[in-house]
Amino acid sequence: MTQDAKARLGTVQDALAHACKIAGRPVDSVALIAISKTQEAAAIRPLIAAGQRRFGENRVQEAQGKWPDLLAETPDLELHLVGQLQSNKAEEAVRLFDVIHSVDRVSLIAALARAQEKTGRHPRCYVQVNIGDEAQKGGCAAADAPELVAAARAAGLTVVGLMAVPPADTEAAPYFALLAKIARDNGLTELSMGMSGDFEAAIMLGATHVRLGTALFGARA
Ligand SMILES: *Cc1c(COP(=O)(O)O)cnc(C)c1O
Repeated sequence: MTQDAKARLGTVQDALAHACKIAGRPVDSVALIAISKTQEAAAIRPLIAAGQRRFGENRVQEAQGKWPDLLAETPDLELHLVGQLQSNKAEEAVRLFDVIHSVDRVSLIAALARAQEKTGRHPRCYVQVNIGDEAQKGGCAAADAPELVAAARAAGLTVVGLMAVPPADTEAAPYFALLAKIARDNGLTELSMGMSGDFEAAIMLGATHVRLGTALFGARA
């Protein structure tokens, strides 16, 4: 198991470096976030032992169950929230996570601003864009992104970039290119895009953070 995790991480790092080389980008311009949702602490520890430091979860409650212990063991971890966030969980999210990728509406911006004031913590934030305009998917409409970025900045959030999950079962590259354009137009330098099935394309189109679960942990149950 330990060997598996180490081997998978090595394979992913090689693929990431190769994509960076093709794109003419330095390998350290792309950060790997290991998406550990549904994984037990016992599956996460080998990756930490192999040197992985950035991890992502999609549920606040699930993360609260496993990360305090892991953080006590290895304090220099960086925790990312990549799933939809309810406003009533904003304070818990701000307390636990270093980065929040799912800022997608005005009411959540207000809740995060209150949570920042109360906790004194200021996680880095991404505005999530529903780049394929899909019903039931998190993220703001592409046309609303500039307004939301401005609102988040005005509320005191540290907005660093945009995040998106393109529609499944279709060519992701055009959606990555569109997200990159919206980021450029809004003076944002970080792009959280690319998952196990499409991270190489995302890197070629400017991703600065790729979010990989399956490639690192195997298929989720
Ligand atoms: C689960 C998840 C991922 C990782 O997906 P894989 O296909 O397992 O790499 C990335 N981003 C978000 C938002 C997710 O929910």
